[in-house]
Amino acid sequence: MVVMVLGFVENWQERAHAAISWAAGLIQQEASQTPTNILPGVTCGYRGLFYPSARHSVRMCSTGVDRKGILANQVAVVTGSTSGLGFSIARRLAQDGTHVVISSREQQNVDRAMDELQREGLSVTGTVCHVEKAEDRERLVTKALEHCGAIDFLVCNAAVNPLVGSTLGTSEQIWDKILSVNLKSPALLLSQLLPYMEKRRGAVNLVSSIAAYIPQVELGVYNISKTALLGLTRTLALELAPKDIWVNCLVPGIIKTDFSKVIHENEAFWNSFSEHYQLQRIGKPEDCAGIVSFLCSPDASYITGENIVVAGFSCRL
Ligand code: NAP
Repeated sequence: MVVMVLGFVENWQERAHAAISWAAGLIQQEASQTPTNILPGVTCGYRGLFYPSARHSVRMCSTGVDRKGILANQVAVVTGSTSGLGFSIARRLAQDGTHVVISSREQQNVDRAMDELQREGLSVTGTVCHVEKAEDRERLVTKALEHCGAIDFLVCNAAVNPLVGSTLGTSEQIWDKILSVNLKSPALLLSQLLPYMEKRRGAVNLVSSIAAYIPQVELGVYNISKTALLGLTRTLALELAPKDIWVNCLVPGIIKTDFSKVIHENEAFWNSFSEHYQLQRIGKPEDCAGIVSFLCSPDASYITGENIVVAGFSCRL
């Protein structure tokens, strides 16, 4: 028996599942009469539904289904992309077909991240870029242009929080550091990249934090920098709309990385936070990667100036 499942447009996955269940039932019936090894063939056909060569709806991506190629022939720059969220975002964009330029402050981290992604067969290059340093940002732009002379996507992920403490107890030097890296650098880097993004329909994704909505008392100026990023998103979205560049902001909740150790390894904090918001688990960097890929895709081309919370709970009306 040969079963073909073709031509679904709406709710095709659910329909395909229903069709497969139906087919499996038929096969079971047939197998009880004629013992054949037909099920693997159907499984293959079913799998084939997920690997068509045509362009997919991005909706498929949230199911974890392979969508290689949806961002093909595009170039992305991701800051702070040698570990944590930035690394996962870089990997996901590359899996979806983008050439990704990864970067961070340490050459050895850039080499390690590049090596890992290239061993996965992904198209990545990398360079050192401390986002606060103008010459490093210039080098990052040059590296990105090496690939095809234009840039499509910018993900401003790098951030610092050198102090755990109150706002009013923060020295001027620390204020400057946090605002410079977290808030000013994304805007400055974008201004350097803009002439090369204008040639294409671009997408910019800033990375804020749930601390923008729910400030943590220990995170003083960091909270403020992340709230200000929401304002930067809105302003840039307005300024860049005429250039057909979409600007959105990822707002992660608590994601398990080195950066958030101070939060998620604080058992008392985690227990009360997770109970209050009915959090069922801590976030993983990969939880934040698919949405960035979506925001870069044509399916998001009518979305700009938005803050997208990925936190396992909702912090807004
Ligand atoms: P992470 O695991 O510590 O990774 C940070 C990355 O940024 C590393 O690749 C680091 O590499 C690089 N980096 C640090 N300072 C940099 C600088 N000045 N210039 C360029 N690169 C720099 O951090 P993460 O948790 O993934 O955080 C990434 C982003 O998500 C940040 O914007 C953070 O505010 C936001 N976020 C995180 C959480 C969370 O729970 N983890 C929650 C909300 C928001 P080098 O050391 O080599 O520079």
